[in-house]
Amino acid sequence: MHELSIVMSILDIAQKQANKAQAQAVEEIELEIGELTGIEKMSFDFAWKQAIRGSILENVELKIIRPLGIGKCMDCDEVFEMKQIFDACPICKSPFVAIKSGKELRVKSLVVT
Ligand SMILES: [Zn+2]
Repeated sequence: MHELSIVMSILDIAQKQANKAQAQAVEEIELEIGELTGIEKMSFDFAWKQAIRGSILENVELKIIRPLGIGKCMDCDEVFEMKQIFDACPICKSPFVAIKSGKELRVKSLVVT
């Protein structure tokens, strides 16, 4: 499952950061998951709950920021909101779109104790 491997890599990052800071636990974690990453909130939550059990993230407060998908048409320069990664320009129907936001997938911040 896609979401589970993502959660596992987040867990790995958190573990390394906590080790570096010699922390006992992670209090808060803030993730940035763009709307165009294809990550489903429900399957992410499911994978998350399973993966953090017994880990350093067990009692963490999880915050998720979901940047909207924003694309800029390479033909007419229209800037528009994208729902899917292959959305065409709504004005000229061009399929050539530069994605400006929505593909973010990272740990934005981490608070350890
Ligand atoms: Zn266009």
